[in-house]
Amino acid sequence: RPRVLSGIQPTADSFHLGNYLGALREWVTMQQRYECFFSVVDLHAITVEQDPELLRQRTRLSAAQLLALGIDPDRSALFVQSHVPEHAQLSWVLECLTGFGEAGRMTQFKDKSARQEADHVSVGLFTYPVLQAADILLYQADAVPVGEDQRQHLELTRNLAQRFNSRYGNTFTVPDAHIPGDTAKIYDLQDPGSKMSKSVPSGVIELMEEPKRSAKKIRSAVTDTGREIRYDTEGKPGVSNLLAIYSALTDKSIADLESEFDGRGYGDLKKELGEVVVEFVTPFQEQVRGYLDDPAQLDKILHRGAQKAREVSAETLRNVFDRVGFVAPG
Ligand code: ATP
Ligand code: MG
Repeated sequence: RPRVLSGIQPTADSFHLGNYLGALREWVTMQQRYECFFSVVDLHAITVEQDPELLRQRTRLSAAQLLALGIDPDRSALFVQSHVPEHAQLSWVLECLTGFGEAGRMTQFKDKSARQEADHVSVGLFTYPVLQAADILLYQADAVPVGEDQRQHLELTRNLAQRFNSRYGNTFTVPDAHIPGDTAKIYDLQDPGSKMSKSVPSGVIELMEEPKRSAKKIRSAVTDTGREIRYDTEGKPGVSNLLAIYSALTDKSIADLESEFDGRGYGDLKKELGEVVVEFVTPFQEQVRGYLDDPAQLDKILHRGAQKAREVSAETLRNVFDRVGFVAPG
């Protein structure tokens, strides 16, 4: 079976609809056809300041949410990134192959660093995409299911794999991005010009928040002037975002929704979408609580995941160290 690797940061108390529709939903279905490695990437999380106790809590909370969404730990390796030391080790080697200017062109770094004072922007935030490349290349992944916002990082990963392969001989599989079409990017409900994001929580639907609160956020989503319910990302970004979410959560096509809501107002669309979201998150939250009620069992699942991951990552790293000319340890 071809391999898949993907990760998610434990940087919030909850995943949001963008994470789910842009990436996690795809993780769940890919388990059927791929050998999957899914990671809660705590090393990435500390590229911006984190409270240690919160980080620990959120790492378990993230794993519980992944299990509740349908990640099957018997089928896939579900692990915490810091449990597998090869990630940081390979990252160093790849950093030494990355151009400074090349890393500086990453738009996510530019966006995230622009939101902080220069002295608070860490070198880790700058090299984050290289660690991400290491995450992927360690497992010789063929495909990486991510949202649209990760396309540029994936391109860097491919370049680094090719560069290493041509300098040291064929070592890494060059991975393809696996980006779902319609829901690759979910936008902020209060600001449909920017992506829904954990780090800018305004119009964000969190899977773990009180369902009534989600419904209320949807009712007060920014929509466009005019009254027609039509999918038009240029002219009607707000309404189009709501339609994309509705369609993804119900498997009704956007065209079907357009005719269903023909002649009706924005208020109707928002009210119904609110109900759809409540129906999705209510049973999900119950399942998450089930996993959190048994932290020992949860840690056991993660331990097993890390063991599975290391079987692959340790071999790749050994090979890499050998190729770059490091003396084998005794
Ligand atoms: P942060 O703002 O801290 O980077 P995030 O919301 O971007 O958080 P990540 O953990 O970085 O979340 O990303 C997890 C996955 O979710 C990635 O595959 C990413 O592409 C996807 N993703 C994140 N935001 C969106 C979005 N608005 N629409 C679609 N996919 C998204
Ligand atoms: Mg992100």
